[in-house]
Amino acid sequence: MTQEKWGQLRERLLKTVGKNNYTTWIEPLKFQELEDGVAVFSVPTNFMGNYVSQNFADLILYELNTSGEDVRRLAFRVAANSPVRPTMIATEEEAEQEVSIAAPAASPALSNTPLDALQTAPLDKRFTFERFVVGKPNELAHAAARRVSEGGPVTFNPLVLYGGVGLGKTHLMHAIAWELRERQPDLNVLYLSAEQFMYRFVQALRERRMMDFKHLFRSVDVLMVDDVQFIAGKDSTQEEFFHTFNALVDQNKQIIISADRAPGEIKDLEDRVKSRLQCGLVVDLHPTDYELRLGILQNKVQQHSATYPDLKIRDGVLEFLAHRISTNVRVLEGALTRLFAFASLVGREIDMELTQDCLADVLRASERKITVEEIQRKVSEYYNIRLSDIIGPKRVRSYARPRQIAMYLCKQLTSRSLPEIGRRFGGRDHTTVMHGVRRIEELKLTDGQIAEDVEMLRRALEA
Ligand code: ADP
Ligand code: MG
Repeated sequence: MTQEKWGQLRERLLKTVGKNNYTTWIEPLKFQELEDGVAVFSVPTNFMGNYVSQNFADLILYELNTSGEDVRRLAFRVAANSPVRPTMIATEEEAEQEVSIAAPAASPALSNTPLDALQTAPLDKRFTFERFVVGKPNELAHAAARRVSEGGPVTFNPLVLYGGVGLGKTHLMHAIAWELRERQPDLNVLYLSAEQFMYRFVQALRERRMMDFKHLFRSVDVLMVDDVQFIAGKDSTQEEFFHTFNALVDQNKQIIISADRAPGEIKDLEDRVKSRLQCGLVVDLHPTDYELRLGILQNKVQQHSATYPDLKIRDGVLEFLAHRISTNVRVLEGALTRLFAFASLVGREIDMELTQDCLADVLRASERKITVEEIQRKVSEYYNIRLSDIIGPKRVRSYARPRQIAMYLCKQLTSRSLPEIGRRFGGRDHTTVMHGVRRIEELKLTDGQIAEDVEMLRRALEA
């Protein structure tokens, strides 16, 4: 990007943020370079970098991306005080302090859509209740979704569905929307991702159509926002979300939210937003278990059979897949689709041999798919403490022991190094991790309860 282009973008920002903000925050930004998707600006003080990144970063990113630049992140460097320093020194000092903000994945397709096109955010035809297989890990989430989809009096607001990738959050939200449309066609049901929410918001700001935006969002009967963790750290968007949320709750309108983790665990989400989300019913989708995976596979086979009526699938294949493929349903589905396509191409029945051949890479990839986060989650559930206590600084025994067990399991079950593990445990040193791992190794030999706990956890994680 050229300085000239930045100059033009600045003009656009002036219109959006107003003269005062512009003079104080935008004008002093000096564009330095754009490399690997990171736009670097120098700022006179660290404070300013922080302020801009918290309050204007989404806006700046939006402007950059809609003007054709491909920018994922902004970085602010504090420039050296004296203007006449040798470049080398200045660069070193600049490098010391860097504040950055991650960009949303750019959605150029959205940028020119009129605000009112929102009403028709597309729903996936396949994501219905009929096609949702219920099992132990998701039965609560399913029941809550069903209840909300009946459209009766609002009993819990909001409904928050959370859980890892590919466990069916989006599927359930779409299912609710389909059901509501069917039962109550007059209801104004709005489904969108948190990312879309942000783009609409920023667009409204830029086009000075905040009134339209507010009116639109406050006139829906049911608002569904998917993947709300996306707005974490994007302060102005969070603020607007907060107000939209409150306005709708005041009118007793149903709100449904999804997130990839419990609201309380979302980093950089404002406390007031967190506490609002926790006001209603919060249910999680647990990682799938074997039975659920098998159920989903059987269900999908029926659907595939419509497309490939002649294909035969041998006994044991689905069981094998349910056993071997990770907890993510999306991966499971992909594997099955590939299997059917492959079998029909080569004109063979689906047996173990074909399965092993066709899915070699998927099977290999899912062999060791246990993540540090999963381990932390499982261990905290097991000991009935909060995830934040496993990661946090408290040293009391009731947290420290589970923490050490989690570290031990990370060392055993993932390929992460000690420093990497330390980092994921609240930035601890690798020697702390090593100490924890050793401690558990010793205790396993002397303390039957610990040995049993570790074994149970290991089995649960490998299931
Ligand atoms: P998330 O939004 O939680 O990341 P999705 O809702 O997009 O996950 O689900 C990923 C894929 O897995 C979708 O194709 C969805 O239909 C399917 N899926 C997930 N859970 C189930 C289920 N219980 N029954 C049937 N299909 C499911
Ligand atoms: Mg989703």
